[in-house]
Amino acid sequence: MEKILIFGHKNPDTDTICSSIVMADLQTKLGKEVQAVRLGETNKETQYALKYFNIKVPEKIENLEEGQKVILVDHNEFVQSAEGIEKAKIQMVVDHHKIANFYTSEPLYYIAEPVGCTSTIIYGLYKRNNIEIEKSIAGLMLSAIISDTLLLKSPTCTETDVKVATELAKIAGVNLSEYGLEMLKAGTDLSDYTEKELLNLDAKKTEKDGIKYMIAQVNTVSIDDILKRKEKLEEAIREAISEEKLKLCLFVITDIINTNSKAIVLGERTDIVEKTYKIENNLIDMPGVVSRKKQILPFIEANI
Ligand code: MG
Ligand code: MG
Ligand code: MG
Repeated sequence: MEKILIFGHKNPDTDTICSSIVMADLQTKLGKEVQAVRLGETNKETQYALKYFNIKVPEKIENLEEGQKVILVDHNEFVQSAEGIEKAKIQMVVDHHKIANFYTSEPLYYIAEPVGCTSTIIYGLYKRNNIEIEKSIAGLMLSAIISDTLLLKSPTCTETDVKVATELAKIAGVNLSEYGLEMLKAGTDLSDYTEKELLNLDAKKTEKDGIKYMIAQVNTVSIDDILKRKEKLEEAIREAISEEKLKLCLFVITDIINTNSKAIVLGERTDIVEKTYKIENNLIDMPGVVSRKKQILPFIEANI
């Protein structure tokens, strides 16, 4: 039987990696031959989670062969997916993002729910199929939910996410808030990344009406610490803008303790952001903003 590859988006985050692994576990138990893979380097938060639950990092792939069967988790947009995705056979999508820049030539399973995390949806698939969730698998799903919802504090977090996370913490045998804070903190150790690496750690590109733009985000416990590198960060952002022909780039720095953000805004279409936020010194202040999906993307899309 031909192996189906399961992966999430480029610049993988904890949900993308953990949901790929968990989905592979579920599909294997349902009798499918599958393999979880990744499209980029794992971040420190994800590494913390994998190490804690003693799970190996999935293999990295560069591009897809024509006709390769795939399952997409935690994304659908082709610009965020593997090279060659246009010619792959997408069997299934499990995702919690807006649907854009996506098409297939054949029918498929498309499971989308507006919840805080892909793993929350996959938890439901285990239940629906009456498959028992092992301890380490529960730990990975829990890590994904904690990451995507910033320990259940993000406006993307739904009642379902809270219920599922509470249940998973029991199965995984961890204290939700203690483990969650340690995991999130592990991801804020950014000192040994170059500015370019910081920019690519959690960057997502998308496009509307021919305007290609990127929103990158980093989590920190001190926004000022990151802003000490503002000049060099701006250099890296300008490079990305010219290399990728972006019209706009936001580098969002999120304080995970106080749930606030500031963002560096550059590009020839900063006017799109300026309709909502005052830009000073290429910087905007976003009190109470932590979610790219719910609080940043929507206002940009509305302003384009
Ligand atoms: Mg993700
Ligand atoms: Mg996600
Ligand atoms: Mg994220």
